[in-house]
Amino acid sequence: MMKQAVVIGAGIGGLAASVRLAKEGYQVTVFEANGFAGGKINSKQLGGYRFDMGPSVFTGPQYVKELYDLCGEDFADFPFDRLEESFTYYYPDGHRFTLPHNRDELLNVLHEELGEDRGTVARYLKQAGKNYGRISPLFIEASLHRFRHLNGRRLLTALATLPAYRLGRTMDQVNRSTFRNPKTAQLFNRFASYNGSSPYLAPAMLNMISHLELNEGVFLPREGMVQIPNKVRGLAEKLGVQFRFHEKVEEIDVDDHTVRGVRTAQGIYPADVVFSNMDVAFTYERLLPKEERPERILSQEKSSSAIVFYLGVKRSFPELGVHNIFFSEDYETEYDHIFRKKELYSDPTIYLNITSKRVPADAPAGCENWFLMINSPVNVGQDWDTETRKMRTIMIEKVSRALGTDVEALIEEETVMNPVAIEEWYSGKIGSIYGNASNNRFAAFRRHANFSKKIRGLYFVGVTVHPGGGIPLAINSAKIAMRCLREDVRSG
Ligand SMILES: Cc1cc2nc3c(=O)[nH]c(=O)nc-3n(C[C@H](O)[C@H](O)[C@H](O)COP(=O)(O)OP(=O)(O)OC[C@H]3O[C@@H](n4cnc5c(N)ncnc54)[C@H](O)[C@@H]3O)c2cc1C
Repeated sequence: MMKQAVVIGAGIGGLAASVRLAKEGYQVTVFEANGFAGGKINSKQLGGYRFDMGPSVFTGPQYVKELYDLCGEDFADFPFDRLEESFTYYYPDGHRFTLPHNRDELLNVLHEELGEDRGTVARYLKQAGKNYGRISPLFIEASLHRFRHLNGRRLLTALATLPAYRLGRTMDQVNRSTFRNPKTAQLFNRFASYNGSSPYLAPAMLNMISHLELNEGVFLPREGMVQIPNKVRGLAEKLGVQFRFHEKVEEIDVDDHTVRGVRTAQGIYPADVVFSNMDVAFTYERLLPKEERPERILSQEKSSSAIVFYLGVKRSFPELGVHNIFFSEDYETEYDHIFRKKELYSDPTIYLNITSKRVPADAPAGCENWFLMINSPVNVGQDWDTETRKMRTIMIEKVSRALGTDVEALIEEETVMNPVAIEEWYSGKIGSIYGNASNNRFAAFRRHANFSKKIRGLYFVGVTVHPGGGIPLAINSAKIAMRCLREDVRSG
C-alpha cells in the first residue's frame, strides 16, 4: 500500500513539497485554508486591472525548472521573459536612472550617473556571484541541521573563503566602503529587503543577494506571478496529488513522538508523514499545542512586513518601468523605524511595480496597474487603520511629486493589504513576510530545521524555516525536507 503524506498549506513551499513527495511514491493530500494555491503568491482582478498581490520580482527560475525536470516535463510550458532592465531608481533630489541588465551598459550607467569605477562594480558583482556559488550548496540547498549535509569538501571550501564574506561587517559597512557615492551604497543596501532584513544589521554575506538580480536577471512570468504556483500545482496534479481547498488543518495528531495524521473540521486523515507549510510558529501554537516548542528559535526577531496599495491608474507613464524605487532621504532612519521603533517612517522608500508595462492585458488600454509597496514593521498592536490611511497620503504625495502629476485624480480602482491582512489571509505570524529576519550573523543558524527533532514524520517547508525568505528559497526548502525524509526512511 502507498504511504500517505499530508501537506499543510499550498504556498509555493507546500506545492514544491507535494511534487517531490508524489515523485517519491507517496499518496499526497494538500490541505489549504484558502480557496486557491500559491499562498502569498496571489492575484486579484479589480475591474479591468489584474494585480499580483504578493511577490513581483521573480529571480532564480532554475529552481522552478528543477521541479519540471524532476517530473520529466518540458519547461517550455512555463513561459517567462528576462527583463532588459532591472529597476528604475528615483532619488529624493530628483536624480533618476534605469539599470539595464546588460553588464557593460550597467557599468556605464553606474559610472555616468553615480561616478562609480566600472572595475569596482564589476569586481563587487563577480564576488557576489562567487559567494552565492560557494554558499548556496551549503546554506541554500542543504540542511544546516544535519552533519552529513555539510559534505566535507564543500564545507572546507566555504570555510576557506570565509574572509570573502566579511563576517564581522554589515551589508551597509561593506557597501559604503566599496562605493564612492552614498547613492550606490543605498542601491545595493536595498537587497536586504529581499529577505525582510535591515542592511544596517544584516551581515555583509547577504550582499550576495544582488547576484540573483544583477548577474542572473529579473524575470517575468507571462501569466503573472501566479503562474508559478499554478504551474507547480499542475505538475502535482499530474502526479496524482489531491488538493483540499477551504479545509484548514486544526491539529497534527501525534502519538508516541510520531505523527499519525491531521484533523480538520471535516475529519481525521491518517498520514505517515506530514509536511507543514504553515508558519512554523503557528504550526506549534495552533496545531501542536501539547508539544514542547523550540522557544529559542521561535523567539528570533521577525522579518519586516509591508503595506501595499493596488491602484488602477487611468493613464500611462512612459518614464516608469516594470520595477521602480522611490528612495527615502535617510535610509538608516527608515530601517531604524521598521526594526527598532516598530513604527512607520514618514518618508518611506516606495516600490512601484507595473506589470501592464509588459502584459497589456493586466490593465485597460492607456492605463496601468500600480502595486505600491512600503516595508513596514510587523504587527505589534499599532493602529493599522490609521497608519494605513496616513501612509496612503504620504505615498501618493511622494509619487505625485516625483512624477509631476496628481496621481490621486487618476485612481479608478483601489484596494490595500497591510500586516494585519497578511496574518489573516496567509497565517503569517504578526504579518512577517519572510519568517525570521537575518539581522545578525547567526540568523541562518537560528532558523527552524526542515524536520522535527522531537516528532518522527514531521517536516517543515516554506519561508519561516531553513533556508529562509523568498520564492527560490521556499522552493529549496522542499528539496531539503525531502532529502531529510529520505535519509530518515533509510535509517529506519
Ligand atoms: C507583499 C509581498 C511581496 C513579496 N515580494 C517578493 C518578491 O518580489 N520575490 C520573492 O521571491 N518573494 C517575495 N515575497 C515573499 C514570498 O511571497 C514568499 O517568500 C513565498 O511566497 C512564501 O511561500 P511559503 O511556501 O512560505 O508559503 P505562504 O505563501 O506563506 O503560504 C502558506 C500557505 O499555508 C496555508 N495555511 C496556513 N495554515 C494552514 C492550515 N492550518 N491549514 C491549511 N492551510 C494553511 C495558507 O493559507 C497559505 O496558503 C513577497 C511577499 C509579500 C507578502
